Amino acid sequence: MTTYKIALLPGDGIGPEIMAEAIKVLKVIESRNDVTFELQEAPFGGQAYFDHGDAFPEATKAICDAADAIVKGPIGLSHEESKKIPVDMQPERGALLPMRRRYNTFANYRPVSLPKSIAHFSPLKPEIIGDGIDMIMVRELVGGLYFGKKEVGVNAEGLRYVNESLEYDENQIRRILVEAFRLADRRKKKLHNIHKSNVLKSSVLWNEIVDEVKVDFPDVEVIHMLVDAAATHLCLNPGQFDVMVMENMFGDILSDQAGGILGSLGLMPSACQGPEKSYYEPSHGSAPDIAGQGVANPYSMIGSIAMMLEMSFGMEEEALNVWQAMQAVFADGYSTPDLARGGSSNLISTSEFGDKVVSKLKRT
Ligand code: NAD
Repeated sequence: MTTYKIALLPGDGIGPEIMAEAIKVLKVIESRNDVTFELQEAPFGGQAYFDHGDAFPEATKAICDAADAIVKGPIGLSHEESKKIPVDMQPERGALLPMRRRYNTFANYRPVSLPKSIAHFSPLKPEIIGDGIDMIMVRELVGGLYFGKKEVGVNAEGLRYVNESLEYDENQIRRILVEAFRLADRRKKKLHNIHKSNVLKSSVLWNEIVDEVKVDFPDVEVIHMLVDAAATHLCLNPGQFDVMVMENMFGDILSDQAGGILGSLGLMPSACQGPEKSYYEPSHGSAPDIAGQGVANPYSMIGSIAMMLEMSFGMEEEALNVWQAMQAVFADGYSTPDLARGGSSNLISTSEFGDKVVSKLKRT
């Protein structure tokens, strides 16, 4: 019997609602495998700040340090609520970025998957979706503008100014590119390198390292694409992409656009891997606009669990079963209200969706 310690950080807004459904799925997996999941819940994010005076409390750090993997719900507050917290303690700056830094989770995988069973949720026309969309965005997660030096002040002319720097060294770039090339090599041997080398020196260095790493992956075709053009291509011809790699901020923005082409950010799970520890989280935020209503779709959270089963615990088959159970619920015509947008789906709540996934899963 293998025991895995899992830190559960439900987070803010819809976080606890969708986390509850993910736990149901974990229990099914545990019940039929030679594995025990030791689940330890801990506060993290905006509510943690209000309750404990710290968005990433020391006790939470200790639980995460001891865990084999971390499952994190979305964090964040509405614009108005955020103002009640000092800027540097607000959820992203006070919890999310420190966690990424603490565990050096440099590789962020964001699958963008639109099989036929959920193609009707996409705002794209059927002729653009074609046979379905199946790509994965690989985003560098602990460098660039989000982690560079920051300076705010008043300049010599008496004007308030800000200076934030986009910083990478070649090792940071190389390690994420190696991960992306490996993934492309295992899939369709096609890698879209997303950059902005016509303007940014950081992209010039990035592209030099792409050429260097490519030498070790002769079978992988590299397609270079400017990030602004990539935004357009994602809408007009998403089927051309298989693996995309990009720096931190480009990945943040383009992966939200990918959520848009699927029809909801609720369909975007993710995995964040470091050398020793990984955490798994939906790509989206805490969705304050729908929190507490039982309408958020837990697909992104349950999908993040599937990614953990595969990437941290080597349980590929069960991961696949989880994906298929979720697709099967959609294929039966069920949906949470956000996805349906007045369409013909049978509308169910967050927990009903989770229950249906569990019942499909039990039949596999
Ligand atoms: P958001 O991602 O929370 O929501 C954007 C839209 O997507 C909303 O309309 C929301 O209802 C919808 N949505 C998100 N998840 C959904 C789900 N599972 N099911 C159905 N619909 C879903 O973005 P926002 O409103 O700009 O940000 C809210 C807060 O989240 C902010 O404080 C932001 O800083 C934070 N945030 C956190 C993370 C993170 O924890 N990694 C990521 C992004 C944003």
